[in-house]
Amino acid sequence: MAETSLDIREDFDFTGQTVCVTGAAQGIGEAVAEAFAVLGANVVIADIDAEGAAEVAGRLTDAHGVRAIGLETDVSEYDAAAAMVEATVEEFGALDVLVNNAGLMGTQKFLDSEPDDWAAKLGVSLFGTLNCTHAALPGMVERGEGAVINYASASYRGNDPGLSVYGAAKAANRSFTKTLAAEVGEAGVRVNCVSPGTVETPATEDFVEKYREKLGDAYALGRVGQPEEVAKGVVFLASDAASWITGETLHVDGGYLRR
Ligand code: NAD
Repeated sequence: MAETSLDIREDFDFTGQTVCVTGAAQGIGEAVAEAFAVLGANVVIADIDAEGAAEVAGRLTDAHGVRAIGLETDVSEYDAAAAMVEATVEEFGALDVLVNNAGLMGTQKFLDSEPDDWAAKLGVSLFGTLNCTHAALPGMVERGEGAVINYASASYRGNDPGLSVYGAAKAANRSFTKTLAAEVGEAGVRVNCVSPGTVETPATEDFVEKYREKLGDAYALGRVGQPEEVAKGVVFLASDAASWITGETLHVDGGYLRR
């Protein structure tokens, strides 16, 4: 029988654990990294924006007294993902939680797009997930524990004109999550997915500003979300409070109504 207890506070104590969050120089990823820092984790801010990553790492160290580093990483490149994991293990000894947050949005009608546009979107949102996960898993399997959190989006369900390729990448992440969870579960590694609705971040601020009221109508709770609200869902999935949850997609979307 697995060892469990109802000391829920302990379940959310990440002291001594190392969490790597991709795309964490801003937006949801930054909030995710900060949430883990609040709970005592060492955090790795991996982002293509090296300066932004270093700034966030410095801020988290100052604010929460944890060890945090910024790593310039282009998740769409396998070698860069492998280097990210290597640098993490070198700095902190192991990687306990991988959060595949990096994603590339931007609306474009499919007929107006070119193969290069698809490659860019899939490169970050799908290959980024595959690259980082493939690089991180061997260490987790060897140690018999670890958690991976992937990202879908409300648009994985389709019916979001302009987000066909992005939505397809997000649907793939969801499917990948379920199958991978079945492959590595017995090795002690859990793989889950978070699916945010519209969240106010640098990627969406203009759009949200323009359509705030209309967007709110699409959610049972009547509003768009904030990065911290997604971060709490990610932390839950990574925590021991979710010790018997794997292969799941947690919809953090205010009760999105357009199914
Ligand atoms: P954002 O654009 O504000 O931030 C994304 C971060 O990823 C940036 O710091 C950027 O520099 C980094 N990044 C981009 N390409 C990269 C690469 N190749 N390698 C490493 N880092 C890279 O995005 P966000 O709104 O915070 O979204 C974060 C995640 O949540 C994404 O996966 C997104 O698809 C998903 N999501 C967001 C929303 C939303 O409404 N904001 C909704 C659903 C899902």
